[in-house]
Amino acid sequence: MDHLNRLHDLFKQFPGIGPRQAKRFVYFLLGTSDAFREALAKEVSELASRVTICSSCYRYFDSKGLAAHACSTCKDPNRDQESLMIVAKDVDLDAVEKSRVYRGYYFVLGNTLSLVEKEPETKIRAKELVLAIEARAKKGLKEIILALSLNSEGENTREYVEQFISPLVRAYKLKVSILGRGLSTGTELEYSDAETIKNALLGRRQETMM
Ligand SMILES: [Zn+2]
Repeated sequence: MDHLNRLHDLFKQFPGIGPRQAKRFVYFLLGTSDAFREALAKEVSELASRVTICSSCYRYFDSKGLAAHACSTCKDPNRDQESLMIVAKDVDLDAVEKSRVYRGYYFVLGNTLSLVEKEPETKIRAKELVLAIEARAKKGLKEIILALSLNSEGENTREYVEQFISPLVRAYKLKVSILGRGLSTGTELEYSDAETIKNALLGRRQETMM
C-alpha cells in the first residue's frame, strides 16, 4: 500500500469520518507547510507520553510527562465537595466545564451503553465509579448528577448506572438527579451550548431510587 493510502486508511478510522473526508484530510495536509505537518506529527507522537488519565475522575489531562495522578479539577479543594457529576465522555465534561455553571467534581464513564450491550459492566468504568463515589462520600458528597445525553444510549446508560449505584446511594443517603428541561430529546450533551447546559443543570430533577 502506498503512503497516501496508508494515511487515508488511518483517517478513515476517526469517529464520524468517511472515505471522502479522509481523502480531503490527506490532500489538505499535502497543501500545508512543513512546519504545520511537523507540529502535527509532534503533538500526535507526544500524546501518549504527556497525556495521562486522571486516577480520580478518569478524564484525560496533560500531565506534561510528570508522574501526576489527578487532574487540576480533582486537585482543586475549592470545588463543591457535595456534588459529583457523571458524564459519558471527556467531551461532555468539557462542554459542562465550558458552561461555567457547575463547580463540583466529575466522573467519566468512558462510554455509553447500547440497548443490546451484553456486558455493560465491562464497557463503562463501573467498578471505578463505585470507588469514586465511596471516596467522595467520605468527603461530604450529597448529590450525584447523571448528565447523560437524552438519546436511547444515554437513557439506557442512565438506567443501568442508577441501578448499579443504588446500594451506595442508600448507604450514603445520596440524592440522585438528572439533567432537566433545556436539553431536548435526542440532544447530545457534547453539542449543547453553555446556555442550554446551564438551564438543564438548574432544572435538574431528583430521581426516586428503587
Ligand atoms: Zn480528575
